[in-house]
Amino acid sequence: MRLIMILGHAHSSSTLTGILLGSSPDVTFTGEEYDFFRENALEDYCTCGKKVSDCPFWAEVNDLLAKQVGADFRSRMQDLHKGLNRDTIYFLNKKFPCDEDCMKILEAYYKILYQVSGTKYILSGTKKIYYSRKVLENIFGSHALKYIITVRNPFGAMASYLRRGVSFLQSLRIIGTFYVMAKLAVPKNVRYIVKYENWINNPVEFFSNLSKELNIQQPQWKIEYENNTIAIQPVKQIHIFAGNKIRKKDKHVIQEDTRWKTELSSLQKLIISTTLLPVYKILY
Ligand SMILES: [Zn+2]
Repeated sequence: MRLIMILGHAHSSSTLTGILLGSSPDVTFTGEEYDFFRENALEDYCTCGKKVSDCPFWAEVNDLLAKQVGADFRSRMQDLHKGLNRDTIYFLNKKFPCDEDCMKILEAYYKILYQVSGTKYILSGTKKIYYSRKVLENIFGSHALKYIITVRNPFGAMASYLRRGVSFLQSLRIIGTFYVMAKLAVPKNVRYIVKYENWINNPVEFFSNLSKELNIQQPQWKIEYENNTIAIQPVKQIHIFAGNKIRKKDKHVIQEDTRWKTELSSLQKLIISTTLLPVYKILY
């Protein structure tokens, strides 16, 4: 059983990274772990166009898991998800929210994913760095576990959060915490940094190199180059679900995002360049 976990702050293109890498024949991208355990997950729509409860991949995973750990597993996981909003605090040694039952459910979940997928790697995602390390290393053993950390320059990341209506100070705190946590909590020998600015202009070259480093076959895409944009369509059917717009597209148009240059005020840029930017430069 082998896992690659994508750790990314929101708006760092973690989902797109998952979709692009998930079109490798060696990899099955399963989206964010959290989404499967939401109470209403079965009501959602999968990228294959079917309801999650009717999707051939997720219906099988759901049935096998219900048989193995009991059909009420979603309600038993709710405490974990409430607790995980405080990931940083657990890193600082507060009681960890995943008990034995939770660990048992997650272990069964990943084993079933691996079995149903039939590929060399499962590629999953989470924003909870410390939780991920503690739980997943317990399940997989560190030898079978690799981490991709997706980061984006602080100006672009901040503008993207503000566009979503998150307050300036909260965005600053979330992104700053992520930059530091990702470096502190993830062991260096299994850590692959995917910087948005490094791949956005040449995804083909970047993901080919990354595939070699990860020791997986190259992803297979149909690619069209237009003025300043690259449109990529994964050749493989990918089964992921939950709200994000990007998950509903079968073709992904990639373009450098420079909107932040006009969207952020001078004061906001000044605050970002004196707080987040130095941290980002040192760490990444
Ligand atoms: Zn599906």
